[in-house]
This record gives sequence, C-alpha cells and structure tokens, in this order.
Amino acid sequence: MKLYNIKCPEQQVSFAEAVQIGLGKNQGLFFPSELTKLANIDELLNQDYVTRSSAILHHLIGDELSLAEVTEMVRNAFSFAAPITNVSDNVAALELFHGPTLAFKDFGARFMAQCLKRFSAGQAVTILTATSGDTGAAVAHAFYGIENIKVVVLYPEGKISELQEKLFCTLGKNITTVAVKSDFDACQALVKQAFDDEALREQVGLNSANSINISRLLAQVCYYFEAVAQLAQEKRQNVVFSVPSGNFGDLTAGLIAQSLGLPVKRFIAATNINDTVPRYLADGQWLPHPTVATLSNAMDVSQPSNWPRIEELFKVQNRSLSELGFGALTDEQTQEAMLALYQQGYVSEPHGAIAWQQLVSQLREAEQGIFLCTAHPAKFKSVVDGILPKPVELPDALAQRIDLPLLSKYFPAEFAPLKELLMAVSG
Ligand SMILES: *Cc1c(COP(=O)(O)O)cnc(C)c1O
Repeated sequence: MKLYNIKCPEQQVSFAEAVQIGLGKNQGLFFPSELTKLANIDELLNQDYVTRSSAILHHLIGDELSLAEVTEMVRNAFSFAAPITNVSDNVAALELFHGPTLAFKDFGARFMAQCLKRFSAGQAVTILTATSGDTGAAVAHAFYGIENIKVVVLYPEGKISELQEKLFCTLGKNITTVAVKSDFDACQALVKQAFDDEALREQVGLNSANSINISRLLAQVCYYFEAVAQLAQEKRQNVVFSVPSGNFGDLTAGLIAQSLGLPVKRFIAATNINDTVPRYLADGQWLPHPTVATLSNAMDVSQPSNWPRIEELFKVQNRSLSELGFGALTDEQTQEAMLALYQQGYVSEPHGAIAWQQLVSQLREAEQGIFLCTAHPAKFKSVVDGILPKPVELPDALAQRIDLPLLSKYFPAEFAPLKELLMAVSG
C-alpha cells in the first residue's frame, strides 16, 4: 500500500511507515495513493466477518503483509461482534460497542496495536494520544501489557464521564494517563507540539494512536461491510449511513468502504452543536467556533482532524461535498431523540441518538437507514439515567473497574511537563 502526505505530496510512504510515523511532514495526514474497487462485493458480503475483513484489509494493504498474517491480526483485533438491530421497518442500529471498552474505538485501536506490534518488533515505542473519552480507553486497553510499547493518554480534566475515566485511568503498568486542565483541542495541540519536536520524537519513538493513524481507519472500513452484509439482499441497494461525528475518522472510513465498492447511497454527517462541518457544508465557510461541552462529549471537537482526508477523497474522485447529508443537534434535541428512540424500544446514548435523529429526518422512501451506535449506553450512565425512565445496567467490563483508584497525573496545558513525562516513561 502506498500513501502520500496530503500537505506534502512528495512524501510517499508504505503502510508500515504510515502506521509507525502516524503524521507526515508539516502535520500532514497520509492518504492512500489508490483506492481500487474490490471485484467480488456480493461474494464478500456472503462471507463471515473475519474472512471478509481479512480480504478487505489485505486488498488495501497489499503485499506488505500476507493474507495469513492479516487474518491472524484480524482474528486478534476483531474478537467481538458488530451486530445490527432493527429499530423500525427501514431503520437499523449498527452496534459498535461490544468490545472491551464499549465503544467503536476498540476496532481501530486493537487493529493498530496488532500492526505496531508487528512493524516495530523489538524497537521502543511511545504512544502519545489525546482523547475526548473513548479513544484513550480503547488505546490503553489495546496496548495494555504489550512489551516495549508505552502509552501516554491526555484527556481534558473534568470533561469526560466518571465511568469513562474509570475504564482507562485505572490500568497502570505501561499505561500513563494525564488529566489536562483545559479542553480536548488543547490536548490535541499538545500532542501536535510533541510530534513537531523532532529530537523528542526520535528519542522516545513517538507514535500517535489517534484517529489520524491510517491503520485505525482501515480497520473501521470493515464494519460498514459487516453492516450491509447483515441486511436482507433486497435491502442492500439503497443504504444510507448516519455517522455521529467528532474528528470524522468514522465517516472517512465509511467513504473508503464506499470507494472500494460497498453499495452506499449516501452518508449523513451528524454532530452536536460543535458543528463546524455542518455549517461548512451548508455555506462553504470554514469557521470553527470555540469548543463547547455537550452531552455527546466524544464529539466535542470544533477542528476535526480527519476532515482534510474527506476533502482529499472528494477531490481525487471528482466528487462534490454536496453529496453528503449533514445536521447538528443541541443537547435538548439530543435528549428528545433519546426519548423518542426509547419509545421505539431502543436504549441509546447521546451519540447514537444524534445519528438516529438525523437519519430519520433525512431518510427518503425506499431507503434503508443504518445509524452508528458508537458507545454502549452504560458508558454514559449518568447522562442516560437522567433522561430515560429506566436505569441502564453496567456491563462486566465497567463493573469490574468501578472501585479501582484513578492513577492519573494532573498537568496544566503546557508542553514542558509533558515532555519531561515522555522522556521519563520511555527511559
Ligand atoms: C470518537 C467518538 C465519536 C466520533 O468519532 P470520530 O471518528 O472522531 O468522528 C462518536 N461517538 C463516540 C461514542 C466516540 O467515542
């Protein structure tokens, strides 16, 4: 697989290099030089999840890894299901929260851990990532206990749920968590600053496991196929996906799946009031506002890091961004959506409910809608219990960690203490 840097197209790398360096020169994102269609979509859709996902990833990655190697990695990474559940006649939920940290980030993080383990055999690696909640948990769990790989996760202090914090700030071992006194964008800026420090990057073997890492996006391509594969044959032709979006990695993965030939009629980009993209799609003006805290906090992002990839994909395929559906919900509308969905017999948390509401308001006749449920409702228990009539039960993965002490460090939004920490954990 060849990839180029969107900002400096002369920088071209292999898949292994892209996974290991994460970001390119000038903080440019890597994008595949080619996205050739899969020849046998119908056949693939009839295969089981692991076989199909291995074939898709092998097609994308090419001969850098054998099919047998990819299959083993897929088996280790995708060790849980991605089922669809019908909510109404033509609307289904794609449940991406059955992994160890109860959110879709498990798919990408676990596949990335498999890739890094393979590509960096023996070398020291320090993963540095910023999270608005779910990435951090997924990354910490995916790499927990892997030799030679240290993980440092930054998150905005007080802006993620208590349960989320319990899930990944109680691990210890090779995992260090840092609560930063600021918002997610500030955490992301600190990560960027660390990557800009070339000496530091070399010294500690810095790698970002953020949703900018191409291995994570490729892993996420697979569950779009899995969703369509679960539909009856006659429902597969007019599929509309609604994607709750923050950094827009999930939507990028969906667009890649479509580029490979997955029949998708349309995508809807659904956000909370951190709505830089919906406003941009409406009027063509890119005007990020300061980030605002919402009920759907994993989408509290006003400068989505994967957006340049979406622009690039539309550009190289001569397509217009006007193909994308879009919409944003306030917290009040999000609560209404959760209640409306509950009345249809489906319990959802804020992110999934936003995607559902945008889907049903934009779905046309004879279309089959699928909205992505990106987290388990229990992950947002305090929010969900305050809105729905019945409390959600904690699944085992959470219940086991609830009484463990938090091991986080508390830092101001400054580079110096972070740099010191990175050198300490890697040494
Ligand atoms: C990360 C996350 C999102 C946003 O996904 P992006 O790929 O960043 O757009 C949505 N919902 C949940 C629960 C998440 O954790």
